[in-house]
Amino acid sequence: MSEAQAFLPYGRQQIDEADVEAVVDVLRSDYLTQGPAVERFERSVKSFCGAGHGVAVASGTAALHAALKVLGVGHGDRVWTSPITFVASANAARYCGASVDFVDVDPGTVNLSPQALGAKLQAAEQSGTLPKVVIPVHFGGQSCAMDEIHALAGRYGFRIVEDAAHALGGDYLGGRVGNCRWSDIVTHSFHPVKIVTTGEGGMLTTNDAELAWKAATFRTHGITRDPARMVGESDGPWYYQQLELGYHYRMTDLQAALGTSQMGKLEAFVARRREIAALYDETLRGLPVEPLARDTRARSAWHLYVVRLNSAVRRPVFEALRAAGIGVNVHYIPVHLQPDYRRLGFEPGMFPEAERYYGECLTLPMFPGMSDADVERVRAVLAKAFAQSSCSL
Ligand SMILES: *Cc1c(COP(=O)(O)O)cnc(C)c1O
Repeated sequence: MSEAQAFLPYGRQQIDEADVEAVVDVLRSDYLTQGPAVERFERSVKSFCGAGHGVAVASGTAALHAALKVLGVGHGDRVWTSPITFVASANAARYCGASVDFVDVDPGTVNLSPQALGAKLQAAEQSGTLPKVVIPVHFGGQSCAMDEIHALAGRYGFRIVEDAAHALGGDYLGGRVGNCRWSDIVTHSFHPVKIVTTGEGGMLTTNDAELAWKAATFRTHGITRDPARMVGESDGPWYYQQLELGYHYRMTDLQAALGTSQMGKLEAFVARRREIAALYDETLRGLPVEPLARDTRARSAWHLYVVRLNSAVRRPVFEALRAAGIGVNVHYIPVHLQPDYRRLGFEPGMFPEAERYYGECLTLPMFPGMSDADVERVRAVLAKAFAQSSCSL
């Protein structure tokens, strides 16, 4: 096998002619910014997920910010999330002036651990420091143990925002991720490496009409044109009111049209991701790598295919794969170890399962456009890298 083959990224979008036409149609229409295509996209995602409402926004990060804001998170509140996530899950709390803390991960699935959460909640109850919101992150596309987290929310009175940036198309206990059966709000991302893309974009799904209205208002400066919502009387048909400070977080019709077109292929994308995962499972057997544990309650959308390997060889193996044109990656550097979080008082050793995982993890390429031969190429390079490194497991 030649090592001079094309670079194989860890993830990439799949765009076809129908996607291109959908965007071009919008360019020829009356609306470029938020218009009828955004409404269509919202209907498409909410009905796929089985949620009552969908509110499209500019990014998955904006969706997290809006979700916390409409749940009333502000100064003095506490928000907890997983350390094994993209920084945005934690940053959203800080945008609201709240403080962030983390809950260590399950050593098998690397999702937020319900056991660790239960123990931390018990301690927080004693000290009067319970969180207002917990954000479970469906790492790699596999749902967190939502029934257990939901039960803890009932007992300790916190709200739940699911960060489903990896998990659109996955399911949990027979229901689709995004249906909000276990949470107040689910947030989605349509960044090109995610399951479906709008270039940049995000969405909140919820079953609460008032939360949906608040999120829709928040994404457009906190402005309403609905006289029924106004303070006092409307001045006339031109009138609008800013009810509270919002942001400009709107999605464009160009993006939304791409999103609706992509939604038509979501199930095929996820089916192919599942095939690739099964191929990896099969072909990597015998190599000193271990895939993440599978929760039988969940069916993953397979945003990421992650393996763990001996921490002593992770770096040489990573470098050998990159040198051979294989776009391996590391998801994620634990958020609490980022300098901006260290400044808030977080230190190494605080979340040992997350930190151990970080030393051992490697994300292999995974996207629906990959061929079976690409999977085989990854295995061959991986096998060679292990053979060359002196101390594999
Ligand atoms: C991608 C991602 C986000 C942020 O989404 P953007 O659309 O890039 O803003 C948030 N959380 C997780 C877990 C993500 O992977």
